Amino acid sequence: KYHNELVELKGNIRVFCRVRPKIKEDGGGTQAEQVVSYDRDDDGLVYVTNKGRNQTFEIDKVFTEQSSQIEVFDEMKPLVTSCLDGYNVCIFAYGQTGSGKTYTMEGPRDNPGINQRALQLLFEMIAEKGIDWSYTITVSVMEIYNEIIRDLLNEDTSCKMEVKMSAEGGLYVPGLTYYKVESVDDVYQVFAVGQKNRATASTSMNEHSSRSHALLNVTVTGINMTTNTKITGKLNLVDLAGSERVSKSGADGARLREAQNINKSLSCLGDVIHALRSKQNHVPYRNSKLTYLLQDSLGGDSKTLMIVQVAPVEKNVGETLCSLNFAQRVR
Ligand code: ADP
Ligand code: MG
Repeated sequence: KYHNELVELKGNIRVFCRVRPKIKEDGGGTQAEQVVSYDRDDDGLVYVTNKGRNQTFEIDKVFTEQSSQIEVFDEMKPLVTSCLDGYNVCIFAYGQTGSGKTYTMEGPRDNPGINQRALQLLFEMIAEKGIDWSYTITVSVMEIYNEIIRDLLNEDTSCKMEVKMSAEGGLYVPGLTYYKVESVDDVYQVFAVGQKNRATASTSMNEHSSRSHALLNVTVTGINMTTNTKITGKLNLVDLAGSERVSKSGADGARLREAQNINKSLSCLGDVIHALRSKQNHVPYRNSKLTYLLQDSLGGDSKTLMIVQVAPVEKNVGETLCSLNFAQRVR
């Protein structure tokens, strides 16, 4: 009900914000003062106090620090299940490093995030479909680092993957590894392989993951035995690179190039969503690997959800304002 109402009102793009709770890394004192607030009545308004000034941002929905993984996922359910009807979906987590992107997408082992819950829900939904339907779910795991796409399900992560367009206009990555998954256990295994390969390819996992985009692609194919019809839907779950700005002073050449690539690809994503949302004729998909790779899941009748993550404290207020400005721009 909720889902269809919003689609009619606002098209297929929505922007949510999730405010993470304070953590011990926020420290104490004024640095850890809460500067992000919202109304309890869930009107999509977020307020940020900066140097005594109040700024208001309007987005589609706010998840507060009290929102649980289950509550967040409940809002994703219609998007996730629409894959079974052949829709392509993208869910992005955007925000500075430490704002909770990975918590939202992956989550801790004992309280998983969207990735795990989405696959679990798809298995449940498929089990409920009539016997005339036969579904296959495959997953691939990639990262984009410095505009290079790597296949994280291939042990040889040095391999640079390319994006190609098929005759029918679909995008694909030749040679990319796909695993067929049939249970939550299979999913755990695939995620573990991806994580292992991501870690072995980098010296400092934390830094690396904050500078690269992590993509989980789920492809759902359903065949109806009686009518012989085939339906394919894709669910793209993306933990984006940290959106923080890097100061030019102090960064060496490689670090600066890296930062520029991240900025470029995040601003390209913003440009693409902005162009789609404002129904512009030209959508600049080709300006980054990420938007090119996701071209067939952004726009058309695809559905996009951007979750803008923010830290609640004074120390991060600059980046929080940047992130909410980004949210406002794509909305
Ligand atoms: P990012 O991926 O954006 O760099 P993380 O997801 O790693 O950020 O989150 C940073 C820290 O904050 C982690 O220790 C994480 O467990 C914690 N955290 C983030 N969001 C939440 C939340 N909603 N509830 C509890 N802890 C959270
Ligand atoms: Mg992270």
